[in-house]
Amino acid sequence: MSDSNLPPGDWPEMQPGWVWLVGAGPGDPGLLTLHALNALRQADVIVHDALVAPALLDWANPAAEVIDMGKRGGKVSPTQTTISRDLVALARAGKRVLRLKGGDPFVFGRGGEEAQTLVQHDVPIRIVPGISAGIGGLAYAGIPVTHRDVNASLTFVTGHDAKGRAPQLDWPAIARGSAVIVIYMGMRNLAEISAKLMGAGRHADEPVAIVQSASTPDQRVLETTLAACAADAEAADIGAPAIVCVGQAALMRRALDWQAMLAGEAPRDPDPLGLGPAEDR
Ligand code: SAH
Repeated sequence: MSDSNLPPGDWPEMQPGWVWLVGAGPGDPGLLTLHALNALRQADVIVHDALVAPALLDWANPAAEVIDMGKRGGKVSPTQTTISRDLVALARAGKRVLRLKGGDPFVFGRGGEEAQTLVQHDVPIRIVPGISAGIGGLAYAGIPVTHRDVNASLTFVTGHDAKGRAPQLDWPAIARGSAVIVIYMGMRNLAEISAKLMGAGRHADEPVAIVQSASTPDQRVLETTLAACAADAEAADIGAPAIVCVGQAALMRRALDWQAMLAGEAPRDPDPLGLGPAEDR
């Protein structure tokens, strides 16, 4: 498939009756993959969720039908069953279907269930990974999700279970074992989760960063602590979609806030961890 929007190469062609599950990244259109762009150019139908930035759809084939399966905004939201069945029906109707999901389709996005439903109905699929908010969204706030001086492991958790409550996790094990904890969908249960982490030994003063609408024009970042994060987020009116980073990695923003540099500001502190020249370590 050759397309003037794509670099030269052997780009895969979408076939009728196939569904491509594609990650759209956290918002900035520049964070789409080339496979995602290729799919946008070809799809007959684009089924997207609420986290997909509207600007991305400007890249779509103008003839494509766009279906918003968003789960926000006070409207009655389609159930996962409805979405999965609609995808099957569209594929069976011979459409070239692009299922576009925020971030990465297989990270807390129920992409696995959708893909499995399709396979169980004999609909062939292709998976295109995307940049997940827990990595790319934090990078847009100047936070390296691993940093050798801080962490050699990393935990991604969801902040709520199927019923909306904080998930039943071994929080003490996570608190002990993971210097950096990244929480998706964490805002509603942030008070409970931070209390659990402190109860399991994490320090009340530990740095926390919360990035709302990362990589979009509405991006906001709150720098806070484990003890204060829930109250500070409420006071600052920070809400979903937001990604929470618990751990010393959050401090690195003081050095690496590149968006502040774009605005002409100097780094607040080139050595937030107080360890001296980075090239010597
Ligand atoms: N598949 C997505 C995650 C879906 S779960 C991914 O890989 O990123 C939805 C949660 O993702 C949100 O509640 C929020 O925690 C996070 N999220 C997604 N996009 C975000 C963004 N642009 N900024 C901040 N958080 C985001």
